[in-house]
Amino acid sequence: MDSKAPTDFTRLRRMHERGHYDRESIHAILDAANHCHVGHIINGRPVVIPTLHWRDGDEVFWHGSSASRMVRANGAGGEACLTATIMDGYVLARSGYNHSINYRSVMCFGTPRLVDDPDEKMAALKTFVERLFPGRWDALRPPNDYEVKATSVLAMKLTEASAKVRNAPPGDNPEDTSWPVWAGVLPVTTLAGAPQPDQFVTPGLIPPPTPQVEV
Ligand SMILES: Cc1cc2nc3c(=O)[nH]c(=O)nc-3n(C[C@H](O)[C@H](O)[C@H](O)COP(=O)(O)OP(=O)(O)OC[C@H]3O[C@@H](n4cnc5c(N)ncnc54)[C@H](O)[C@@H]3O)c2cc1C
Repeated sequence: MDSKAPTDFTRLRRMHERGHYDRESIHAILDAANHCHVGHIINGRPVVIPTLHWRDGDEVFWHGSSASRMVRANGAGGEACLTATIMDGYVLARSGYNHSINYRSVMCFGTPRLVDDPDEKMAALKTFVERLFPGRWDALRPPNDYEVKATSVLAMKLTEASAKVRNAPPGDNPEDTSWPVWAGVLPVTTLAGAPQPDQFVTPGLIPPPTPQVEV
């Protein structure tokens, strides 16, 4: 495990003992999170966009319409910050001050690159689909030229990233532990709902399992 932050900027100041900087921890949280937020500056203003991401090796990827403001901003050489968070539980203490959240989160900083090599772009899109629905890419109608052109893929190296994890009971003050109010953790998970086939599904076709994310 890398116990040292890759840069001073990514060194956790608050609750630094919750910090992890090793590839394994960062990869595991990115892989488990079902979406992320990408922050960047547009016309001098901070903008944070929720979107889907995926990881391949030591890079994190996301995609969007080639015409989108996000894609244009992220492909123009400016810096971005991508964060992904999994909420694991509400932590109820005996004082409002000591309430907290159990979570796993990652923050990655860098300058995204546009994936413009056609083969790499196609492979990245396949990885995106296969990450969520293994085996689905080959079952789909292949993408046409228009769709590939209308879709941009961005990638960012995970060279400047940090993870923060809280997985603990409440941290009450010792003198509060006899206070007569319930305290502990209310765990939170993302549950899959029942599949809702559209009106054109050929009878007999089986839906894929809902991705096992945020577990
Ligand atoms: C679901 C959730 C709820 C939270 N609720 C609160 C809240 O109500 N109030 C509150 O103050 N904080 C909350 N936090 C923690 C919050 O994300 C910050 O870690 C904290 O506020 C410290 O911010 P800072 O800018 O002082 O961090 P600093 O420690 O100064 O940040 C320095 C560097 O540490 C790293 N870092 C900081 N925070 C994170 C993180 N969460 N994940 C990965 N890397 C990180 C980054 O690289 C950052 O550049 C919450 C976190 C999560 C995931």
